[in-house]
Amino acid sequence: MRGHRLDGFGPTIGIAGGGQLGLMLALAGIPLGMRFRFLDPDPEAPARRAGELVLGELDDPGALARLAEGCAVVTYEIENASAEKMIRLAEQIPVHPDPHVLADAADRLREKRLFGALGIPTVPWARVDAAADLAAAAEHTGLPALLKTRSGGYDGRGQIEVGSRSELLPAWERLGGVPALLERRVEFTRELSVVAVRGHDGELRAYPLVENRHQGGILRESAAPAPVAPHLVAAAHQYAHAIMRHHRYVGVLALEMFEVNGMLYANEFAPRVHNSGHWTIEGAVTSQFENHLRAICGLPLGSVEAIGSSRMVNLIGDLPDLGELAAIPGAHLHLYGKSPRTGRKLGHVTYHTPGQDAGQCSRTPASNLSRSRSG
Ligand code: AMP
Repeated sequence: MRGHRLDGFGPTIGIAGGGQLGLMLALAGIPLGMRFRFLDPDPEAPARRAGELVLGELDDPGALARLAEGCAVVTYEIENASAEKMIRLAEQIPVHPDPHVLADAADRLREKRLFGALGIPTVPWARVDAAADLAAAAEHTGLPALLKTRSGGYDGRGQIEVGSRSELLPAWERLGGVPALLERRVEFTRELSVVAVRGHDGELRAYPLVENRHQGGILRESAAPAPVAPHLVAAAHQYAHAIMRHHRYVGVLALEMFEVNGMLYANEFAPRVHNSGHWTIEGAVTSQFENHLRAICGLPLGSVEAIGSSRMVNLIGDLPDLGELAAIPGAHLHLYGKSPRTGRKLGHVTYHTPGQDAGQCSRTPASNLSRSRSG
């Protein structure tokens, strides 16, 4: 497919979801002459500042049609967009990435099966559809384990740690008795992620690996490039690329992994730009946001090379003294225009240095610059 012309008067990109990821996509595309329209039920959606906002639910066909009207291409910034409705929309207008991927990303069982089919290692897991499945599942995974709902969980929600057999049933009931997976809790050395991009013509590129630190299931910090043995970098790139090839994917995808005893195990993937790729705005030749737009518009991909090293810290729950933060050399502040609330991502700051020494997550439980009240 031919790329869209860059003439300063379009194209208009429709984005399902108007959160901070949509905002940062638009901030990357506006210099390329692109225009943006977002679909979100929240009139205060962060992306409203960077384009036109269509108010409506992501699974409302009428609202999706209003989003798509006059757009060259539609994409999404949230994996909970309805796979079924987006597949239907794709009959009318190009939608990238191919929305069939949403069904795999939104269901932990389908996701784990996809990893297995593609030869991507995972920690031991078992399916739990009914209370009667719990004992056999724990036998398979061993304990401690994490019981996770198959769908709807994010940022640590929808999962409970189970230490002993007697905790299995109460944990499952607390999750609402819904279809779930039991997963062995591993003592990982580090959490790593890879952000990769696939162009219209099938070209694949992947950014350097990122080390992530989560707390309470929420990403707190990312550091890149993470010092990782070359064979693990190659494995991570291969896993991300296998998922993308399988789905004839166009756009950016992120894969989160655990490093355990020198091996990588996939945890989950996100079919979209990702929080662990925010460092690429200042820390890479082309940001993940620009590369996603280049891919979905059929333009050549930009370089994914890192420039120096970066550490990104999420600002969660409430904001620190912004004056103090802005005074730090190399600190780049991003605020999403959201009102403070416990556990809510309000912004992030990236500390960028041209050298090699900023790229490590802090070992303290919470960065004093994120002053988090949550988790
Ligand atoms: P998830 O919702 O699956 O992304 O999990 C959120 C966070 O919980 C991960 O980033 C890890 O920090 C932790 N976690 C999830 N699954 C496991 C596991 N099997 N073993 C150890 N930690 C886990």
